[in-house]
Amino acid sequence: MKLIHKFKSLNYNKRNNKQISFLILHYTALSSIEDSINYLCDRKNKVSCHYIISQNGKIYNLVNEKYRAWHAGQSAWLLDKDLNSSSIGIELDFSPNHKNNKFSKLLIESLILLLKYLKKKYKIDKKNILGHSDIAPYRKIDPGEKFPWKKLYNLDLSYNPKKVNLNELVKIRIWFKKNKIYLNKNKILIMLNFIGYDISKSIKNKSSYRSLINNYKNHYLQKSNIKYSNSKLFNCIERHFCSLLLTKC
Ligand SMILES: [Zn+2]
Repeated sequence: MKLIHKFKSLNYNKRNNKQISFLILHYTALSSIEDSINYLCDRKNKVSCHYIISQNGKIYNLVNEKYRAWHAGQSAWLLDKDLNSSSIGIELDFSPNHKNNKFSKLLIESLILLLKYLKKKYKIDKKNILGHSDIAPYRKIDPGEKFPWKKLYNLDLSYNPKKVNLNELVKIRIWFKKNKIYLNKNKILIMLNFIGYDISKSIKNKSSYRSLINNYKNHYLQKSNIKYSNSKLFNCIERHFCSLLLTKC
């Protein structure tokens, strides 16, 4: 894997003694790799990332991994409220509104090499390889619905909720009943919160809830279509929750 060190961003600071335990994926939403590098290296924009990958698979290192790059913004996952300090940010040269609106084969191949390298180097749990849309679901949708998460699952570079024993699912259903949690929406919020998502805005606001659900679907069901069967979504979240619960017990 060849890394290009030609461009540097000064938009970084110290990690506040936090360990690197997340890899966060983004898309740039800009029209070209040149524009994106310029943007991420311009001091006045106050944003950056550690790595950016071009459509032809070149990997540029803009910020040293030991520093805190500014890619996540306000973000949360489980108890972590400052993902910039605990992650490495990877931008992909992709924009849904420009010509670079496909994740090219070369881009994805380079991303896979980089993820394998970083996952091994920092012993990162595959559950912590996430999208910006997972850690900031009310503000962000990148890496978006076209991003091929399935390719990453197959290489053990992302978490895929496995099939779980029906007996285990039944236990969860009984637990919800015992605790008088009947509405599917409430069950979904409890489960997504356990998985790691910040559910605070979804509790009262319908459009926030929709953003959260769409971002979950884009990652784990690879379909953001509203008509996508609700039962399939529910089953996926239930399986996801249950398999995490079993590994934590
Ligand atoms: Zn982003």
